[in-house]
Amino acid sequence: MSRIIDGKAISAAIKEEVKAQIPELEAKYGRKPCLCVIIVGENPASQVYVRNKVKTAEYVGMESRLVELPADVSEEKLLEEIRALNEDSAVDGILVQLPLPRHINEAKVIDTISRRKDVDGFHLHNVGSLWLGDKCIVPCTPKGIIELIKSTGISIGGKVAVVVGRSNIVGKPVAKLLLDQNATVVIAHSRTADLKAITLLADILVVAVGKEKVVTADMVKRGAVVIDVGMNRNAEGKLCGDVDFLPVSAVAGHITPVPGGVGPMTIAMLMKNTVECFLDGVK
Ligand code: NDP
Repeated sequence: MSRIIDGKAISAAIKEEVKAQIPELEAKYGRKPCLCVIIVGENPASQVYVRNKVKTAEYVGMESRLVELPADVSEEKLLEEIRALNEDSAVDGILVQLPLPRHINEAKVIDTISRRKDVDGFHLHNVGSLWLGDKCIVPCTPKGIIELIKSTGISIGGKVAVVVGRSNIVGKPVAKLLLDQNATVVIAHSRTADLKAITLLADILVVAVGKEKVVTADMVKRGAVVIDVGMNRNAEGKLCGDVDFLPVSAVAGHITPVPGGVGPMTIAMLMKNTVECFLDGVK
């Protein structure tokens, strides 16, 4: 039976670290870091995510702002709002909750956020810097995944890491971060011919697909570290990941649960990124 990687506990410890840091930052620089979250429309899932982000910022003792715009807000009005926040020296991090309504160009919105306040690490400049190996803001979910793998005590260098999924927000950046840690990285996707043959190579398996049970026990190498990024609803409406959890637990060395694995790490990393943006801004 594998060890459960407790993302809830690891993220709680990170939040406590940030919480302890805030009074020190305030004493040194005269203000606290400030995260501004923008939500457009009333997508229920987005509202939950945004509420959690703002609540966590408050919990760690940061300033937080919430900008709520109606679903029919014009793209120009949203861009104006972002430009004003870019200029606002009291705001360190700006996050626009995705997805946006269809009439708004997401890429344009993300690239309008100052790259130095882009706490999600989605700005073209940050993405380019990540791939070039330059200093950048690292996207929260991939950054959290690396922390979870490191928490096992297993060193990433020299291991075979397979990432299933090649999205810009999870699959591709996590693959690059694993490469930076000297793993030998394979990226699989929906057109991979024999997924099982590939996943069986993995010492470290990161699954970011968005489909229940896309990875089953016969696809996992004994002792592997399995990170399940997926967030799905099963037939009973319960939250579940992409990995067939119980059978895979019998094979893997370490595994993240859903919920309680990658999800809480994403918000903890958002807090860290906001502090990093603050420190970059006050320099
Ligand atoms: P995307 O839909 O953008 O990407 C999914 C990827 O999975 C694609 O690259 C796709 O391949 C690949 N894929 C689809 N079907 C298969 C298959 N049968 N076999 C192998 N690969 C397949 O999703 P995201 O990366 O945005 O998110 C993935 C999951 O992670 C979702 O459940 C999402 O909710 C969750 N998530 C969780 C977060 C957290 O904080 N816990 C944060 C972000 C996401 P192709 O490119 O060929 O289409």
